[in-house]
Amino acid sequence: MGKPQIVILGAGYGGMITTVRLTKDLSAEEADITLVNKHNYHYQTTWLHEAAAGTIHHDRTRMLIKNVINNKRINFVQDSVRSVDRENKKVILKNGELDYDYLVLALGFESNTFGIKGLEEYAFAIRSVNTARRIREHIEYKFASYNNDPDAKESDLTIVVGGAGLSGIEFIGELVDRVPELCKEYDIDPAKVKIIDVEGLPIVLPPFERDLAEYAQKYLEDKGVVFRLGTFIKEATPDGVLVQKKDAEEMEEIKAGTVVWTGGVKANHIVADSGFATNRGKIQVNKDLRAPDDDHVFAVGDVAVFFPKEGERPYPPTAQIAVQEGETAAKNLTHLIKGEDTEPFVYKQRGTVASLGDKEGIGVVFDKKLKGKPAATMKKIIDDRYLLELGGVGLMLKKGKLKLL
Ligand SMILES: Cc1cc2nc3c(=O)[nH]c(=O)nc-3n(C[C@H](O)[C@H](O)[C@H](O)COP(=O)(O)OP(=O)(O)OC[C@H]3O[C@@H](n4cnc5c(N)ncnc54)[C@H](O)[C@@H]3O)c2cc1C
Repeated sequence: MGKPQIVILGAGYGGMITTVRLTKDLSAEEADITLVNKHNYHYQTTWLHEAAAGTIHHDRTRMLIKNVINNKRINFVQDSVRSVDRENKKVILKNGELDYDYLVLALGFESNTFGIKGLEEYAFAIRSVNTARRIREHIEYKFASYNNDPDAKESDLTIVVGGAGLSGIEFIGELVDRVPELCKEYDIDPAKVKIIDVEGLPIVLPPFERDLAEYAQKYLEDKGVVFRLGTFIKEATPDGVLVQKKDAEEMEEIKAGTVVWTGGVKANHIVADSGFATNRGKIQVNKDLRAPDDDHVFAVGDVAVFFPKEGERPYPPTAQIAVQEGETAAKNLTHLIKGEDTEPFVYKQRGTVASLGDKEGIGVVFDKKLKGKPAATMKKIIDDRYLLELGGVGLMLKKGKLKLL
């Protein structure tokens, strides 16, 4: 019998950490490892709101996969996954097929528009390097055209953000840093620019404690952001959005040149389409992160849902969890290949931080509340810590944020 073939689908947080850890835990004689990703680069999804607002260049969020993995040990295949043929243990790619003995699903998330009319067509979503780049270019185009295009309207300078969760608030935090620069560059009166957040819940940042969330809201309001809480986007149109306040009968139009939807994510559709048992589109993994209906398949990150205990809420989809699940999946693959028992996934909650632009933020780290500059610095430390784990000091110094402090 040949060596076991391990195939990892997706080079996001979960897939990259699984790959890098496996290279350390298993020798070349023990298994062949293949990593599949649609691009030849890995990107930091948690930085995409910065690239979308234009406060960092999108190249800062990404790195060539071949520069991070051990190319002698890993067979990297740049291709798009179409589906998994579980019966024959094959992955179907756009340009071929791969056989596997063990599979790691790490294909990440897709934007969830909940069927709201027009969002797919007329709103942007922060999903990938390409979508972030499109948002930055679109906003810049609207500002650049304002004083040149005879048909330009003041509402072209309005940016509506749908959702006041982590990614929506972090994106707005970057916008309040970026808009003054754009106004200066294109000779626009800042008073003409509107940033409006529309959120169905009556609060912002629901996972955070109220005093921290209120601090974030006030900071952004002081910078001119308008929050329309308890209000739902009912439709996106070429001219903006139609919204409705909870319990109101009438809809209202907000005209806007840019609409960015951050109101929800769902698991990559390939998982459910390949016939895995799913819970709201995600694989409800066993304690050792294997699919309940397939012992040869692990799921990590946003395609997986993990319930710590029966009756408790599942862990939220975050990079932090994707990384830790990647570590456990690598350990458990190693155990299986060595004929040992697998171990349960134990989540180490270190805290969550939301940045509000470059110098502000809120968060809780190791049970300590942070606001303002300390939170912003902590966010950069978290980002750099990931780079350290992924590619060592060299990668952290090359791509990290702390050197900019
Ligand atoms: C703007 C924003 C800000 C965020 N901020 C935070 C934060 O501050 N903290 C936090 O913990 N989390 C944050 N998150 C959530 C976090 O980014 C996700 O939970 C995390 O990226 C999930 O990791 P993953 O490995 O499951 O998938 P991803 O990181 O999404 O990676 C999936 C990979 O699979 C590839 N792929 C997808 N489909 C295919 C295919 N068909 N074929 C081949 N390859 C494919 C993708 O190109 C990608 O490389 C944020 C998310 C967004 C959008």
